[in-house]
Amino acid sequence: MPQPWITAATHAVADLVFPERCALCAASTADQAVGRRGFCFACLRDLAPFDGPRCGRCALPRPPDASPSAEPGCPACRAERYAFDGAWAWGPYQGALRHAVLLAKRRSGRGVAAALGEQMSVGLADLLAADASEAPPLVAPIPSPWRRRVRRGVTPAEEIARSLARAARLPLALGLLRTAKSPARQASVAPSDRWRNVRGAFRVSERLRRLGADRIGGSQRLEGRTVLLVDDVLTTGATCDAAARALRKAGSGRVVAVVAARRVGGL
Ligand SMILES: [Zn+2]
Ligand SMILES: [Zn+2]
Repeated sequence: MPQPWITAATHAVADLVFPERCALCAASTADQAVGRRGFCFACLRDLAPFDGPRCGRCALPRPPDASPSAEPGCPACRAERYAFDGAWAWGPYQGALRHAVLLAKRRSGRGVAAALGEQMSVGLADLLAADASEAPPLVAPIPSPWRRRVRRGVTPAEEIARSLARAARLPLALGLLRTAKSPARQASVAPSDRWRNVRGAFRVSERLRRLGADRIGGSQRLEGRTVLLVDDVLTTGATCDAAARALRKAGSGRVVAVVAARRVGGL
């Protein structure tokens, strides 16, 4: 007979991998498809993920009547010089999704972060199918030492990336990005200073870059490889820009910022 604590721990792990209860309201989701059981249908409706066309460069919704343009991006981002090649967000940072993202920052919100990652993998399927690179994209969370970490040292970006990688069957490149300096928390800095605050904040782990194949999965090193840069929220794009700069400098291929929520309108 296993000791009770072993059984409990095993169940906890199984629940995390195949949750059968909604991470927000605890309703049973056992009748939903495997890999889509993190949120019940009612909560999914409340979370209101994007369902219309969005800008591939900044992830903001495009007005339905926006005329096609030869220039990349949309009117909102055309003047920006992002180091990332594209951005994708599951939904807008407002209402129930904003609440869920805030919950995911808490120690008790691990299931919410995992459910977000799972849903993001469903939404990202088309984008992933269009990726023509030979090796599968790497999933790399933004490291966040200046954000409030939960006690066990897990950040929402890390937890979302873990779940997303598992659901999409992509290699997780945990620790690929390191912090080179500790800037002030972005939320505490005026929007106009955020770019300066995170400039040079990240570096690529030299050891992982060199070891490549063994340590970050797949058959190739970082060179030329698509990276999905995962964070919980995209606001100005400054944090993802700084991380993408470090990845490109280390020789990565395309970098796509992938976030649970995109702040829309105002800051
Ligand atoms: Zn629910
Ligand atoms: Zn745009």
